[in-house]
Amino acid sequence: MTINLLNYDSQGLTDFCMKIGERPFRAKQLLRWIHQFGAADFAVMSDLTKSLREKLSTIAVIELPRIIADHVAEDGTRKWLLSVGAENGIETVFIPEASRGTLCVSSQVGCALACTFCATGKQGFNRNLTVAEIIGQLWIANKTLATVNDGDLVQVNKSVTNVVMMGMGEPLANFENVVTALDLMLDDHAYGLSRRRVTVSTSGLVPAMDRLRERCPVALAVSLHAPNDVLRDQLVPINKKYPLKELLAACQRYLPAAPRDFITFEYVMLNGVNDKITHARELVKLVQDIPCKFNLIPFNAFSNSGFTRSTSEAVRNFRDVLMQAGFVTTIRKTRGDDIAAACGQLAGQVKDKSKRTARSMIEAAQ
Ligand code: SAH
Ligand code: SF4
Repeated sequence: MTINLLNYDSQGLTDFCMKIGERPFRAKQLLRWIHQFGAADFAVMSDLTKSLREKLSTIAVIELPRIIADHVAEDGTRKWLLSVGAENGIETVFIPEASRGTLCVSSQVGCALACTFCATGKQGFNRNLTVAEIIGQLWIANKTLATVNDGDLVQVNKSVTNVVMMGMGEPLANFENVVTALDLMLDDHAYGLSRRRVTVSTSGLVPAMDRLRERCPVALAVSLHAPNDVLRDQLVPINKKYPLKELLAACQRYLPAAPRDFITFEYVMLNGVNDKITHARELVKLVQDIPCKFNLIPFNAFSNSGFTRSTSEAVRNFRDVLMQAGFVTTIRKTRGDDIAAACGQLAGQVKDKSKRTARSMIEAAQ
């Protein structure tokens, strides 16, 4: 069986090289070719010996998810639908801004955590993505955006300056593969992003937050969405397992290792559900001891969600309460909603293995 080298970080490639009787520095060369130059073919790797190139082409491949669709929104946001086999598809979104380019990366086909306001969660879950499928999203985005001709040997890993693990899936539920992909994002021989430019967003898997702190403490965003357990239990069901007290304690433990001196709390604004002034005040009390920033996300609609977006006035009033209490609060701009690329709208194609009825609901809604 051929080995997909896209599944390996620096350590994995070094082990692979040793196993096939090659010196460890070959791993660095391979990393650079694959990730910096966007090479998917051993033949172009001119500083490898001819015999090594031939050997590699018989035992290994650089295999990427296949692009099924590529849409550009009016505001320049770009969304790719990528096939990951067996009729499963995942989505990746690039958000260009004046000073940076952010890629929103998926970690699973669907999501088992079933937050009630999330299109991905409504679809059920099929499987974790492999390292190749996670890092392949960054590879594809950089390569596509670099607009180089096939065969041009130039560094293509420049367009994406920031990565947010906020696409489909719960990244910390696919811990090992996500951490290996993060290693590659941070590796100077691969993408060379700083830890503060790579953000993992989690709905609050407490033990995995502790492991991330130990293994790869990138910037952390936590999806809070409610100021008390009663409401959070309804919106983010994993809260029943890891309630707010435990979640906030995990945030405190994460902070000393975090690349920035704050945690970002995401808060989706659901009309009449969690957006009242009283909720904002309760929230202020809840997080008063945690250095944090808030990112308010106006709810992005999808069919049969059962929720509507808070009014702009409600969002502003909510923000004002947080700001007056001293918390930096931003309102996330909705990007790419004309191509269903906004937060929470990513649906891809999920052959649900957990709850097929939810899947048919989504199909009916499309
Ligand atoms: N599973 C992770 C990361 C993916 S979701 C998490 O839950 O944090 C990225 C962000 O989009 C999360 O904060 C999530 O709660 C939010 N989100 C989900 N559905 C949404 C929707 N319909 N509108 C706006 N934001 C949504
Ligand atoms: Fe999963 Fe995050 Fe969606 Fe919740 S919000 S269902 S954790 S992807």
